[in-house]
Amino acid sequence: MKQLKGLDIVLKNFSKFILNFKYSRIFINEILVLSVLFVFLAFLFFEISFLKLLIILLVIIALNLLVLNSIGYKRRKEINEIKSVIKSIRKNKIANEEDIVLSKYLKNLEGNIKGMFQRTQNDIVRMEKLAQARSDFLGYVSHELRTPIFTIQGYLETLLDGAIDDAKVNRIFIKKALHHSGNLNALLNDLIDISMIESGLMSLSFKSFNIYDFLKNIIDEINSTEKIEGVNLKLLEFDKDIKVFGDKERLKQVMNNLISNALKYTPKGTIELSLYNKKKDVVICIKDSGIGIKKEDQKRIFERFYRTERDRSSLVPGTGLGLAIVKHILEAHNSSISVKSELGVGSEFTFKLKKD
Ligand code: ADP
Repeated sequence: MKQLKGLDIVLKNFSKFILNFKYSRIFINEILVLSVLFVFLAFLFFEISFLKLLIILLVIIALNLLVLNSIGYKRRKEINEIKSVIKSIRKNKIANEEDIVLSKYLKNLEGNIKGMFQRTQNDIVRMEKLAQARSDFLGYVSHELRTPIFTIQGYLETLLDGAIDDAKVNRIFIKKALHHSGNLNALLNDLIDISMIESGLMSLSFKSFNIYDFLKNIIDEINSTEKIEGVNLKLLEFDKDIKVFGDKERLKQVMNNLISNALKYTPKGTIELSLYNKKKDVVICIKDSGIGIKKEDQKRIFERFYRTERDRSSLVPGTGLGLAIVKHILEAHNSSISVKSELGVGSEFTFKLKKD
C-alpha cells in the first residue's frame, strides 16, 4: 500500500515535470549549447579522464533538467494567469478594467490587456449605439413615409369611389394628393442628403464667390416664387465686394433651409439677413421675429429628425432633417451654427464663412 502511494507521488511529480518541460523546451537549444561549452572547456583546461568527463556530463544534464523544470514551472504559472484573464474577458466575467490583475512580473502585459479590454468595451458601446440609431432611423422613416402615402392613397381611393365625377371636390382632392406627394419627395431628398453626408459621400466643390450677390439672388428668388404674406424678408446692406470661399450649391441649401424655417415659424413679422465683416471671416445671421424656440429645444434642434413637441403635433410640414443637414454642411466648411432664441420674440441663427 505504502509502495503504491510512493509510486503515485513519483508519477504525479514526473507528469508535472513533463508539463513544466513543455513550457521550458523553447530554451533547450541555449541550454544544450551552454552544456556542450562547459564540457568542452573542462576537457580543454583540465586533464580529466573520460570517466570523470562522463560524470561531469551527467551532472550538467541533471542540473539542466532542474533548471528547465524551474523555468517551465514559472512560465506555466504565468501563462495560466494570462489564459485565465483572457478566458474571463471572453466569458464576460470582467465588468471593468480594475478587475484585470496580473502578478508583478506581468505588469507590463497587464497594462496592454487593460488597453485592449477598454477598446473592446468602447467598440461594443459604439456598436450598440449604432444598432439603436439604425432601428430609430428605420422606425422614424417608416412612420414619416406612412403618413403621406396613406393620405395619397385615401384621396385616390375616394376619387375612384366616385368623387372623380364630383366637380366640387375632384380637383381639390387631386391637388391635395399632389401636395402630399411633394412632401414625400422632400422627405426622400432630405433622407438621400443626410445619408450621403453621414456616409462621407458628399463631395464639395470649393470656390470663391461674391457673398452679397449670392444672398441677394436667394432673397429675390424666394420673394418672387413664394407667397409671403405678412412677412417682410430683407437683406440688410453691407460691403458689396466681399468674397467668401465655399461650396456655393451646398451653402445655397443652407440658406434655403434657414430661410424656409424662418418663414414657416414666422406667421407675421420680419426676417432679416445680415452680414458682419471680420478680419478673416464673415458672420452671417438669419433673424426672424417668429414664434421662437424653447431653451431645452435649442440644444436638440440640430439632431436629425428632431422636431419640437409643438411642431410634431401641429400641421406645420417638416421632416426634422433640415437643420441636421445645415449643421453637417457647415461642419464640412470648418464652421458651425449657433442659435439664440426667445419664445414669442424670435430666433437668430448665426454661422461663419472664411473670406477669400
Ligand atoms: P423641420 O423640417 O421640422 O423644420 P428642422 O431640422 O429644419 O426640421 O428644424 C427642427 C426644429 O427646429 C423644427 O421642427 C422647429 O421646431 C425648430 N425651428 C427651426 N427653425 C426655427 C425658427 N426659425 N423658429 C422657430 N423654430 C424653429
